[in-house]
Amino acid sequence: MSLANSTIATLRQRLLAKEISPRDIVTDVAKAIDTQNASIGAYLSWNLEKALKEADKADVSQPLGGIPIGIKDNMNVIGEPCTCGSRMLAENYTAPYDAGAIVKLRSAGAVPFGRLNMDEFAMGSSTENSALGVTRNPRDLERIPGGSSGGSAAAVAGNLAIATLGSDTGGSIRLPAALCGCVGLKPTYGRISRYGLVAFASSLDQIGPITKTVEDSAILLNHLCGKDARDSTSLDVSVPDFTSALGKDIKGLRIGLPKEYFISGIHAGVSAAVNAAIKKLEALGAIPVEISLPHTDVGVSTYYIIAPAEASANLARFDGVRYGHRSAAATDLMEHYMMSREEGFGPEVKRRILLGTYVLSSGYYDAYYLKAQRARTLIRQDFEQAFEKVDVIVSPTSPTPAHKLGALKDNPLAAYLEDIFTIPVNLAGLPAISVPCGTALEDGKSLPVGLQIIGKPLDEMTLIRVADAFEKA
Ligand code: GLN
Repeated sequence: MSLANSTIATLRQRLLAKEISPRDIVTDVAKAIDTQNASIGAYLSWNLEKALKEADKADVSQPLGGIPIGIKDNMNVIGEPCTCGSRMLAENYTAPYDAGAIVKLRSAGAVPFGRLNMDEFAMGSSTENSALGVTRNPRDLERIPGGSSGGSAAAVAGNLAIATLGSDTGGSIRLPAALCGCVGLKPTYGRISRYGLVAFASSLDQIGPITKTVEDSAILLNHLCGKDARDSTSLDVSVPDFTSALGKDIKGLRIGLPKEYFISGIHAGVSAAVNAAIKKLEALGAIPVEISLPHTDVGVSTYYIIAPAEASANLARFDGVRYGHRSAAATDLMEHYMMSREEGFGPEVKRRILLGTYVLSSGYYDAYYLKAQRARTLIRQDFEQAFEKVDVIVSPTSPTPAHKLGALKDNPLAAYLEDIFTIPVNLAGLPAISVPCGTALEDGKSLPVGLQIIGKPLDEMTLIRVADAFEKA
């Protein structure tokens, strides 16, 4: 039997019972990649020999001892490529160190295995912005897996990985998890070190797990969180045992339903699945409460000022001198900068750099950037007020199920709207999880739908409690 379709929890038991070895797991995952990656395209690269060496050295008495974890290709793992889905880094960059999250995983015994495709520099929601290949949704190979962590979600959903790491700036863990039918958790901003995660928008970026079950998310989260002196935004707060939130009831818990999130324009199948999920939560004893998040309508526009502004600064380092592709055709210094960046970056990344540079430029700073920062404060205050009345907030993760490949390719604005329910969470720095909640029918296909559960700052425990109770029901 293949081990690649197992969960961390099951593999742990079998390892401890000595029925299997870490080498067996890595070998089976590699077999699944060999047979299926050509059609799904989740992985950009993988180094079996290195992973087997690490698996042979793994101590299975450790909490993640010998468990291979797939890594989005924007987190540094020493000695491995880290392309960010970009031509810019595809040719000549090898990570010289481990990211903070990878150090944590390793100290719990896990084996990082494989590099997962993504939208270039995490900008996108379909993985179609990768310069290095197409990733397909394992539930329907004609469709996108979502993004930007599309490779991470497709690998888990297609049983090409046990579990993976993604990163989420405006929805990039939750959206692909929802569209592929797996569990994706974005922790509170600052919970997990961003050291060694290639920065997109530093005030929004957060790493998190994509898994087959809520239990696996809790297990991984236990070994990802904690203060890292090398990331000044990482929080020095205690890390609870997140697995202690599993198997608890949710009686009396107040579930906020934001009226601005249940609007027309949402796919009918998505609405039906999410409404059924809310009924299920009620049947489990939760109390639905209508709430209002009045600044929801400015979330997307606020994000598309702040995120590109930060990206334009973060991507300045890719100039062919310090990092990145170097044009062979340049004849002087100015050409060197211009042509290296022209050749190295794809169209979406260029669009964001232009947008970001514009909103930060003198004369426009106050009108755009400063105003967006003020709107961000209002969005955060909306959540603060709502959380005085409720314990968690629920919504669809995405307004639609997975689109056909290419459907939004020439319409960036429509693609930006896919994140309407996930973006406010990043702007407010809150934790949120997407759990599968049924399917929506489109073109005769049953496509996965995700339920988003949003929590108070640092209250991942309640998210896991609700998500786990829902999943088990
Ligand atoms: N889709 C959003 C964007 O394109 C969010 C991406 C992300 O979370 N990395 O910016």
